[in-house]
Amino acid sequence: MEQIHHITKKHHPMKKITIAIDGFSSSGKSTMAKDLAKEIGYIYIDSGAMYRAVTLYSMENGLFDENNRIKAEELEKQINNIHISFQLNPNTLRPDTYLNGVNVENKIRSMAVSEKVSPVSALGFVREALVAQQQKMGKAKGIVMDGRDIGTVVFPDAELKIFVTASPETRAQRRYEELKAKGQEVSFDEILENVKQRDYIDQNREIAPLRQAADALLLDNGELSIAQQKEWLMNQYQKAVCTDSNERN
Ligand code: C5P
Repeated sequence: MEQIHHITKKHHPMKKITIAIDGFSSSGKSTMAKDLAKEIGYIYIDSGAMYRAVTLYSMENGLFDENNRIKAEELEKQINNIHISFQLNPNTLRPDTYLNGVNVENKIRSMAVSEKVSPVSALGFVREALVAQQQKMGKAKGIVMDGRDIGTVVFPDAELKIFVTASPETRAQRRYEELKAKGQEVSFDEILENVKQRDYIDQNREIAPLRQAADALLLDNGELSIAQQKEWLMNQYQKAVCTDSNERN
């Protein structure tokens, strides 16, 4: 009886919800968000990739001065020329980021971009433009989006909100392994420094600072394997969907 009930429930078309995953740099939130989206057939959007793409555009168009500071006024004039989209990569089965029609997935993950992205994403007009796009992408629900302000600003009404964290050392180690696997020359200390610096800027900026939404579930994944994390998230998803349909009945 128990089993039949389970099967019927599983195949019942479930109402789609919005899932917001926020957290610190390199906390593994993208991996968990992507895996969950694939598993439940939702759209996945990496909002950090969008801030990285704006940063790359600025680098490629001379919008940093000699002191590596962003020329905000110039960027504001050009913000409407920046078109960001995502397309599924048939090999990785994950979405690649496109900037004005060009695949920039690898370029936006470089240290050069990581070092410049936080000041760019602190600019109000950049956030306004990207948040509007993100809200449009999530209009029909059935979306998993990860970032820094998804549960607080982009989708404050999301049915499931997760806030992911781990120590800066754990996160730097993950980033280090990821970049090394891609063949990029990086030092652990440099990455740790970058992780800490981005944490600081992201938490202390005036607009939409990184913080846990009051109704977000906290996940410290420092001690969890990817499989354990996946299971935890799947459970939270099941609970959120059930609560949501109970509330509606
Ligand atoms: O997630 P990821 O580390 O790729 O994000 C890169 C940077 O983009 C972050 O350090 C943060 O400054 C910015 N960001 C943001 N708001 C988001 C997502 C990312 O400000 N929703």
